[in-house]
Amino acid sequence: MTTQSHLERLNPEQRAAIETTEGPLLVLAGAGTGKTRVLTTRFAHILLSGHAKPWQILAVTFTNKAAREMRERISALIGEPAEGLWLGTFHALCARMLRRHAEYVGLTSGFLILDTDDQLRLVKQVVEPWRIDVKRWPLPGLLGVIQRWKDRGLTPDRVTGAEDCGYADGHARAIYAAYQTRLRELNACDFGDLMLHIVEILRTRPDVLEQYHRLFRYILVDEYQDTNTVQYLWLRLLARREGAPSNICCVGDDDQSIYSWRGAEVENILRFEKDFPGAKIVRLERNYRSTAQILGAAAGLIAHNDGRLGKTLRPGREDAQGLPVQIISTWDSDAEARDVCQRIETLRRDDHALGEMAILVRAGFQTRAFEERLVQFGIPYRIVGGLRFYERAEIRDALAYMRVLINPVDDLAFERIVNVPKRGVGTAALQKLHAEARARRSGLAEAVESLLQSDGFRGKSRERLASLMDVFSGQRRTLEKEGHVVAVNGLLEDSGYLEMWRNDTSPDAPGRLENLKELVRALADFGTLGEFLEHVSLVMDAEGAAEEARVSVMTLHGAKGLEFDTVFLPGWEEGVFPSQRTLDEGGDKGLEEERRLAYVGITRARHRAVILHAASRRIYANWQESMPSRFLDELPDEYVEREGETPTRRDRQDYSGFFSNSVFSDSQNSTMAPLVAKRRRVSPVHEDLMNSAPQIEVGVRVFHQKFGSGVVVSADRGATEVAFEESGTRRVMSSYLQVMSD
Ligand code: ATP
Ligand code: MG
Repeated sequence: MTTQSHLERLNPEQRAAIETTEGPLLVLAGAGTGKTRVLTTRFAHILLSGHAKPWQILAVTFTNKAAREMRERISALIGEPAEGLWLGTFHALCARMLRRHAEYVGLTSGFLILDTDDQLRLVKQVVEPWRIDVKRWPLPGLLGVIQRWKDRGLTPDRVTGAEDCGYADGHARAIYAAYQTRLRELNACDFGDLMLHIVEILRTRPDVLEQYHRLFRYILVDEYQDTNTVQYLWLRLLARREGAPSNICCVGDDDQSIYSWRGAEVENILRFEKDFPGAKIVRLERNYRSTAQILGAAAGLIAHNDGRLGKTLRPGREDAQGLPVQIISTWDSDAEARDVCQRIETLRRDDHALGEMAILVRAGFQTRAFEERLVQFGIPYRIVGGLRFYERAEIRDALAYMRVLINPVDDLAFERIVNVPKRGVGTAALQKLHAEARARRSGLAEAVESLLQSDGFRGKSRERLASLMDVFSGQRRTLEKEGHVVAVNGLLEDSGYLEMWRNDTSPDAPGRLENLKELVRALADFGTLGEFLEHVSLVMDAEGAAEEARVSVMTLHGAKGLEFDTVFLPGWEEGVFPSQRTLDEGGDKGLEEERRLAYVGITRARHRAVILHAASRRIYANWQESMPSRFLDELPDEYVEREGETPTRRDRQDYSGFFSNSVFSDSQNSTMAPLVAKRRRVSPVHEDLMNSAPQIEVGVRVFHQKFGSGVVVSADRGATEVAFEESGTRRVMSSYLQVMSD
């Protein structure tokens, strides 16, 4: 074969991994060695060399974002838009397959995918006959047990006594069976079912399996170390073809296995050679992402884990050694956020792109402090995968309205909205409704109709429910005639839902209305309401697709596979990272996973890794003193630079000495006294902003980082109402406004 341009700039091992297209192949290699790049190039290579058509390759990524990136990279490599590909996350791919064969598991192709809220509501109904003590056995825990079974590919009949963990007084398995039955009745499934059902179909329907064996000539899997059993079973079923080679290529790194809490089994890597006899193993050793110093620090840290497969990782970049990893001590979590923002400001002034910087946190709660400071500093940012738009209450309500609109028997959705806004449907009325639905073997909506006819409701609630039912039937006609955007808008308007928020005086109501507006805007991007709802259930990280110039804020788990020039890693304290839960559980297993997470964090950085820890942290309303993370001690001294004479766990015995450390008195945080006072106070951060905020006069032109420019329409101490050019009138904090001089 002639040298093709897509194979240039690859090292010999990478080329081998790409050109060995036939037979099973495992690429086992450390962070940043080009595993994902190999996979993408391999995809393009198979196409360009004519081995297969685009739809004959099955490619699995770990996130939707990764799928998007891979699609773009493949398009660029093959020089045309990549369409019709079987490329996506396990869940997205399985949802697509399941739609084609839903009838084999008692569903129709229009089945719904429930979210966690719906699941909880459903399981609550299902457990009723068992009279479970939900204080002792909380329902989310029960769902967790069920999910673990699903992760392991266990349908209710496959759960044996040994696997029954005794949850819910030993009734968990029976409840699981009832829950599955109920899902089927609703023509719905939860996320776990997407995998479970399709594996069950492939196991029991040789004709269907055969169909996919003929279809998929090549299988590519990224982040293989994080596959759980059911995903593994699915891959194995699809890859093992009678009389043909298993052209499956998996890439992974055991040191980056960070999802065991979700059932991932790193052992799947070890089993690869056994499952696919004759498998080739390729190791990549050159890291092209990070500087030697960053790699040295990361390698030193991960060396503290036992039982690793062991891989060599050599710097592959030609540039210099780079900067040492910085470790910064700050006084408290607010100072930590401020410090990061100041560094971002400095970098930005030196022409570093904001899109190349990321703040990676261990836990979701950490982002709030950063969001506040980022807004205050006027630094554009995006929360990746965190504050999910589609999870906000008003959005979920609106989605429930839409679901009922296209599927009148969607009882979970109906129950969510029947009394939102209030229609006088109390618990008693709801019970009556359920009884009626059971008696008629119908959905709740139909039960409402029947009770309306038989005078089953009284007074106002009767009137309001009748009008709700009219609105639905009216908008169903609109849907036919004028399309989904008009129908949804009409539905939210006529049902009184929008009015409810307009009449709401709470400070977040205007924001919610904005969100709802945005939702209707988003609808227009889809051909049908069904398509849109499918998109919503699958693409939770659809937000912020545009890369723009923004700092990314996300969890370490969400950052897997990504890279940035500069990475900030805050909150390296005992109880935050490693997490309190890991410490409480004790043992090495959890701690090793936290350490792998730290390794993932550091290895996201190309040039600059900055780790921070705070001496005290606000956990809800209280300040709590915290110890630097043990991981800080594990970083080899030769690759790190500790700012100031910062004590670590090793040499610090008591906090009093720490707090009088001179590092803090000459820092940005001014003197000791106000700090101590501040630490004891439990008022919200906003308070000091409010007090110091100047009052801006009506009519003045102002600029707000998030909402852009506008004119002040009313003002009092702290909060100001501004008519923004882009986003309408809002109340915002004065301290976040800049007065514009014309
Ligand atoms: P992770 O384990 O974090 O997922 P990875 O092994 O998937 O990392 P990639 O993201 O594929 O690594 O590659 C890391 C970086 O190195 C990317 O920017 C990629 O473009 C670059 N890279 C990979 N191979 C080469 C090469 N042969 N020459 C130059 N750059 C390379
Ligand atoms: Mg990768």
